[in-house]
Amino acid sequence: MTTPRAQVRPRTEGWTQKKDAEGRPLLQFASPRRGKPPAHFADLTPEQRVEKMHELGMPPFRARQLEKHFFTHCTHDPAEMTDLPAEGREQLVHTLLPPLLTEVRRLSTDRGDTIKFLWKLHNGALVESVLMRYPGRITLCVSSQAGCGMNCPFCATGQAGLTRNMSAAEIVAQVVRANRVIAEGQLGDPRHVGHDGERVTNIVFMGMGEPMANYARVMHAVRVMTDKTHGMGMSARGITISTVGLVPAIRKLSNENIPVTFALSLHAPDDELRDEMIPVNSRWKVDEALDAAYEYFAKTGRRVSIEYALIKDMNDHGWRADLLADKLNARGHGWVHVNPIPLNPTPGSVWTASDRPVQDEFVRRLEARGIPTTIRDTRGKDIDGACGQLVATEADQQAAAATPVD
Ligand code: SF4
Repeated sequence: MTTPRAQVRPRTEGWTQKKDAEGRPLLQFASPRRGKPPAHFADLTPEQRVEKMHELGMPPFRARQLEKHFFTHCTHDPAEMTDLPAEGREQLVHTLLPPLLTEVRRLSTDRGDTIKFLWKLHNGALVESVLMRYPGRITLCVSSQAGCGMNCPFCATGQAGLTRNMSAAEIVAQVVRANRVIAEGQLGDPRHVGHDGERVTNIVFMGMGEPMANYARVMHAVRVMTDKTHGMGMSARGITISTVGLVPAIRKLSNENIPVTFALSLHAPDDELRDEMIPVNSRWKVDEALDAAYEYFAKTGRRVSIEYALIKDMNDHGWRADLLADKLNARGHGWVHVNPIPLNPTPGSVWTASDRPVQDEFVRRLEARGIPTTIRDTRGKDIDGACGQLVATEADQQAAAATPVD
């Protein structure tokens, strides 16, 4: 007879989860109307940029020049823009390309192939991005909101609630700054890495925030990243948008005609546990989220990723692997890929990563039912813990307070 495995319930640690009037975990979908970032050239469409030039009495080709400087050469320094007329250049650049991110802190791994940045936005809000060099690709994990309104009890970012949505330009600026760091030879050991022409090749929207709760700005940022003429010219396939399951937004994304990779952060296949782990599950249940994910595949032909953070004794039971596989197979075959993610433990947390044999058994059960499964690399583990933790530490708050806002 097999001994039943322990069932650990999700709960908050060292903080009190905000509740709504009915006592359910508070979900914040709307961004508080405070601390709006300065208007930026990257927030405009290519047509609006030309109109802006017209308004400023400039010829339309100046828009193209600024696009090249910001998106390709990754600069907002007027001194580097010698093809713009010297007279009025500073003023023009400061008006259209105001600095959006101030670097507060940077943490690197020993080999320097992973860098975690803590940025301060113009109103003092903190966000982070993580730059990772892999063989043949460079991935940047970006934030889409300052804070997050989804209130997941296990997540450091969720504790503080939503400060505000990031603008499209603030999202894009994370990529611009990362490309600059790469161009300056700061990612990886400069003795072994050639940096010529290297850029971020992959973007994952898995930093702070729920990207689908900031839909319009995230989509604008994706258009800038993928625009071959007026933007950064990246491949949409290299961009992964993940969500905890905002079903109407997933449906909208299916109809955008931009072939990004879509990832659903599921973390539990049963509503009983997922209601507690991911409060938005109270709005859209596991089956609704999976139906919307399948619809994304059916409409775009792009295989969907299911993200599943494995937490010891909470969601890593063999029967949950079986249930997950059955739910995926019930919708079709070949449409989905599961990425179990060993939990990045927060120091002092009661939750830890699953034991290795348990993790292996979880993967084995999924594969036995025909589900392609890959354990996801948790880069950054050796420099920090879970998402948002960098922002949450007291020292960082102090560092941020001491850094002048530009
Ligand atoms: S896990 Fe993701 S969706 Fe949940 S609170 Fe954290 S950042 Fe938001």
